[in-house]
Amino acid sequence: MADIAHCRSDFPALQQDVNGHPLVFLDSAASSQQPAAVIDAVARYQREDHANVHRGVHTLSHRATELYEGARDKLCHLVNAASRSEIILTSGTTESINLVAQSYCRPLLGPGDQILISWLEHHSNIVPWQLVCEQTGADLIVAPINDRGEIELDKMQALMTDRVKLLGVGHVSNALGTVNPLRDIITSAKKLGITVLVDGAQGVPHMNVDVQALGCDFYAFSGHKMFGPTGTGVLWGREKLLEEMPPYKGGGDMILEVSFENTVFNELPYKFEAGTPNIAGTIGFGAAVDYLQSVGMQNISEHEQALHRYMVAKLAAVDGVRLIGTAREQASVQSFMLNDIHPHDLGTLLDHQGVAVRTGHHCAMPVMQRFGLPGTTRASLALYNNTDDIDRLIAALEKARQVFA
Ligand code: PMP
Repeated sequence: MADIAHCRSDFPALQQDVNGHPLVFLDSAASSQQPAAVIDAVARYQREDHANVHRGVHTLSHRATELYEGARDKLCHLVNAASRSEIILTSGTTESINLVAQSYCRPLLGPGDQILISWLEHHSNIVPWQLVCEQTGADLIVAPINDRGEIELDKMQALMTDRVKLLGVGHVSNALGTVNPLRDIITSAKKLGITVLVDGAQGVPHMNVDVQALGCDFYAFSGHKMFGPTGTGVLWGREKLLEEMPPYKGGGDMILEVSFENTVFNELPYKFEAGTPNIAGTIGFGAAVDYLQSVGMQNISEHEQALHRYMVAKLAAVDGVRLIGTAREQASVQSFMLNDIHPHDLGTLLDHQGVAVRTGHHCAMPVMQRFGLPGTTRASLALYNNTDDIDRLIAALEKARQVFA
């Protein structure tokens, strides 16, 4: 198992100065940095193995296919899917959720049916459902959150009825860091036969995820938040459901036979993977999984939890800081306000000191509305962060406070 303190040196982008200061990168919830192993895997494919997958008899195409399909096997293993047929390679969480909205929900829903989500969701777990509700006449209903930024479980459970055909819920909130009580939510939904999709964009990068143990039906995640390239992702789904769903994108690779009268779709998982995929990115995604597993998910989780506690304690002690999101269970993310300084102004000032944070609504406008804020400043952690990064953040905040005093 790798020593986590040494992992930072695996990430070339972290070895630079920004605005005259060594970079402190606290924006991994938006997109994490990539280790050299991922960058090299992509470069190797581009230099030596570049060819299309699944269709050539020549050596390069075989090599490309092996690497690409090898990544699927690694992802299958990472989340403990029952079969590689259940791992649909997508461009990211957003595409994965849209796939479920269009292929699972659209044929199923009609007026009177409901889709249930929570107030905490990222726009990717809101807008695809709004679109399919418009298309089918179904309604989107929303479970509230409390002042800590936790889903009000009893109220969510009260909204679960036989009218609800799908429940979409995040694993971890990207805006507030709240870890949702998935087991309770899924158990309650399953008692009523409700299909459950988990938006795992902020789950898989930070903790062990076992989709079979969770008991959900779909789980979506993105490669670029777990040290992989952008434009890569996964929809995991139960084979039985995926078998019954029609594809929502047509094209090459997703068919077995095409004539003008009739098209026979390919088997899983290819039925949902129309066109030439992001081969280079997916190979890098596979290398990212190797990297995560070489460090160990348990190791990563413990390191980030300890660092998160340190960050929260330090932030709370800064005069004028108000923590936004104080859930009893949080992972890797903390949103905050500093006095009445606009988050964009604060973010710019921190950037001048080499500290990269995210500012704004974090693609979760309803969460911001719930707290009556236009946006927050958000610091988010990954395995390469350490207490020095937090101390630099705090020092930069102290300076900002003086500048705006
Ligand atoms: N859900 C959550 C919770 C996220 O944090 C994000 C990315 N910010 C997404 C969905 C969308 O992911 P992507 O842009 O990679 O599709």
